Amino acid sequence: MSNITFTMIKPDAVADGHIGAILGKIAEGDFKIKALKLTQLTVADAKKFYEVHAERPFYGELVEFMSSGPIVAAVLEKDNAVEDFRTLIGATNPAEAAEGTIRKMFARSIGENAVHGSDSDENALIEARFHFSGREIF
Ligand code: ATP
Ligand code: MG
Repeated sequence: MSNITFTMIKPDAVADGHIGAILGKIAEGDFKIKALKLTQLTVADAKKFYEVHAERPFYGELVEFMSSGPIVAAVLEKDNAVEDFRTLIGATNPAEAAEGTIRKMFARSIGENAVHGSDSDENALIEARFHFSGREIF
């Protein structure tokens, strides 16, 4: 796989009823869905997924939030997927996100910020494999 990114619609956006609207923005952005599911992270899953942030002051809050309810996990394909998807979702803090971005439109706060997007091609692959088996990716 190349030109892929991994995303989650986070528990806030699922609870707020934004799954359909966010998938619509992803489709409008010309991303092709390679894998998709509604699931929920355990505390252990969330700790492992966000391991790089273990020393940050918000780690506990982040793990608790990310395991607090269902999420949508997806693998998306497009040329330049990682960078283009991060442009589509906007800045981590929705207050700083550009107009029309997913976080500007749907996020609650810097912590509960509606969506995840991979930060590199290497991490996109690691994250896709963390959430999906080979037979779930098309
Ligand atoms: P993500 O990795 O979820 O796509 P990001 O790459 O924009 O987000 P990171 O710096 O990787 O941002 O932070 C991971 C997540 O940790 C953020 O999306 C947010 O949910 C949470 N987070 C980051 N900074 C803060 C903060 N200052 N306070 C609370 N939560 C934060
Ligand atoms: Mg990140």
